[in-house]
Amino acid sequence: MSTITIPQNMLPADGRFGSGPTKIRREQILDLTNAADTLLGTSHRQRPVKQLVESIREGLAEFFSLPAGYEVVLGNGGASAFWDVVCCSLVSRKAACGVYGSFTKKMAASLSSAPFLEEPAIYEGDFGTWRLPELTDGVDAYCWAQNETSTGVAAPVKRIAGSVNQGALTIIDATSGAGALPVDLSQTDAYYFSPQKAFGSEGGLWVAILSPEAIERAEAVKENAAVPGSIRWIPPFLSLTSAISNSRKNQTLNTPAISTLVLMESQIRYLNGNGGLDWAVKRCERSANTVYSWAEASRYASPYVVDEEARSHAVVTVDLIDAVPAAAVLEALRDNGIVDVNGYRALGRNQLRIGVFPSVDPSDVEALTHCIDYVIEHL
Ligand SMILES: *Cc1c(COP(=O)(O)O)cnc(C)c1O
Repeated sequence: MSTITIPQNMLPADGRFGSGPTKIRREQILDLTNAADTLLGTSHRQRPVKQLVESIREGLAEFFSLPAGYEVVLGNGGASAFWDVVCCSLVSRKAACGVYGSFTKKMAASLSSAPFLEEPAIYEGDFGTWRLPELTDGVDAYCWAQNETSTGVAAPVKRIAGSVNQGALTIIDATSGAGALPVDLSQTDAYYFSPQKAFGSEGGLWVAILSPEAIERAEAVKENAAVPGSIRWIPPFLSLTSAISNSRKNQTLNTPAISTLVLMESQIRYLNGNGGLDWAVKRCERSANTVYSWAEASRYASPYVVDEEARSHAVVTVDLIDAVPAAAVLEALRDNGIVDVNGYRALGRNQLRIGVFPSVDPSDVEALTHCIDYVIEHL
């Protein structure tokens, strides 16, 4: 039992700083309540839920300034499921991956385990840095993550020079970057994410913004898989062409969590109403810089990511000196209602990891840094 009580007037108004799931705003819950009698518990094949999905797709098109011909596609299963969609439905023969943290590693592992694909070319960077895949012969898809949630590293989203001439796609795991970090979608063919990070919703859904080339690829992969003798298996659940045709009708292949859709639609309206992606990016940047500046000035904390350019503005990682055990800090914070600022477990560092997504108020982030100081001084 911790004996540290942070003075009430120092506490953030909201103590949720998780990196996913993230804070869900009270206004979203009101929207959920308003949907209680009209949408929840009703069929996703009927007009009201289809209108909800349509609003999500149109809202995201506005938010991301969708380039001509790009489409917003969605399906069940979250970003983890989309890794397998990439394997089954987007990569023709061989992928190249940038690997620099737990999530990029998992994407590469999925590609490596698909028996009908060649072994992916892996370009590995140290944790705490990023590394993009390099132009590689025979590769038809380049994959990396915009934001490595496990380490708090943000990587550039820019096509690999020569990849377009090669006919290769650029496939970006934007799960914790989308909605918090800037992006030019014309540099991507598949920009995919789950709604429980910047879109402050629940998990279980994936959204992918697809270029015309990605849509064409999915169709070609499906045709080739149908040729007798093809060893590729496209399980219906992982069929991107099926997700595309369902999404065009504002549906999903199978039953979605309607509450997730309601929360997400509410968040997209909130983001667009406040100024869209530019607003969200600036707000996250401000919050992130509050933490990085605090850590740099602190005697017992320092930013984990050395390269300032690589420091994420969505997930901020801060190392603590050995004399200050993160576990004790985390416990004291949790006792005071400040939750989920633990480092990524597999990284195994004496670290705090702070999600500063658009729903988090920058003034709460400021308060958090004071609370951490208070706890450490009273440990
Ligand atoms: C959270 C996360 C995932 C996994 O998302 P799920 O919705 O749990 O499948 C994948 N990639 C990144 C970068 C993430 O942050």
